[in-house]
Amino acid sequence: MKSDLRELELVSAATVKEACERLDAGYRPLAGGTDVMVLLSAGKLASRRWVDLWALDELRGIEIRDDAIVLGALTTYTDVRRHPVASVELPMLAQAARETGGVAIQNRGTLGGNIANASPAADSPPALLAYDAEVDLVSSRGSRRVPYAGFHTGYKQTVAAPGELVARIIVPRADRTSFYRKVGPRRAQAISKVCFAGCATRSAAGIVTAVRVALGGVAPVPLRVPAVEQAILAGEPFARVAQALDGAIAPIDDVRSTSRYRRRVAANLLGEFLALTGHHVGLAS
Ligand SMILES: Cc1cc2nc3c(=O)[nH]c(=O)nc-3n(C[C@H](O)[C@H](O)[C@H](O)COP(=O)(O)OP(=O)(O)OC[C@H]3O[C@@H](n4cnc5c(N)ncnc54)[C@H](O)[C@@H]3O)c2cc1C
Repeated sequence: MKSDLRELELVSAATVKEACERLDAGYRPLAGGTDVMVLLSAGKLASRRWVDLWALDELRGIEIRDDAIVLGALTTYTDVRRHPVASVELPMLAQAARETGGVAIQNRGTLGGNIANASPAADSPPALLAYDAEVDLVSSRGSRRVPYAGFHTGYKQTVAAPGELVARIIVPRADRTSFYRKVGPRRAQAISKVCFAGCATRSAAGIVTAVRVALGGVAPVPLRVPAVEQAILAGEPFARVAQALDGAIAPIDDVRSTSRYRRRVAANLLGEFLALTGHHVGLAS
């Protein structure tokens, strides 16, 4: 049954401290509202009390540091697309931003909301996992930094405790080769069937010295796959690397796709990534 939106209480926080106090009092955070409003309108969210984060400039902006690009939780997809450094140095995230929703969603949807919403099919998480990002959480008890690799703990579950806000996402700067691909039913306004992000760092001699691979749409959480990374670094042939991937993912049959299709697409995207890194690639059987 649809909710009556007039029954909601929405307060705007002027400071992060005030927002955290509201959370402690039982309010839930609202950023761009692009996930929340859909669920509220459909009657799928019980909470009636919401604290609007939109005015919190402390959570906004992209900061370029020597070693990292720091994205405030309220960074929108449009902010990423338009930023002269982030859009160039973080091509996987920029591509995720370009392929998320349409222009209206990109203007309003935030990175903090995307990861806090914790959909396994969301588009920025694989990129952030492959970049080995970290997340700053803030609450009335203080702040803490957590590796994004451990952020998603189960379907729609995160390490954020009640009362904690995502404050910023920290992405290390590095020279890396990267590959990002979202596969959906069409090229715009589509939820991913499978999303793949991979990046590799090479030595001066061209040897791959570090690699990270992450996928969306193939497990209850956005998933980084260490078994695949180890197989690549060990120089295993493609069949072995693909086998490691197949063993690590658990895609389901649902309205958007079948498990079999998702497994095949994931293996194909892995092949494309490996070809880019110079890894020997055989044909998937
Ligand atoms: C038409 C449409 C198309 C879409 N297309 C895509 C797509 O292609 N790819 C994709 O990944 N997503 C897509 N989405 C989903 C959505 O737009 C994104 O997940 C967006 O990034 C959510 O950000 P938001 O700021 O709007 O979050 P909100 O809706 O405000 O919040 C989402 C959740 O996160 C929590 N939250 C928000 N900010 C914080 C914070 N700072 N700290 C802690 N918790 C927080 C909220 O309480 C809520 O639970 C689409 C949505 C719509 C309606």
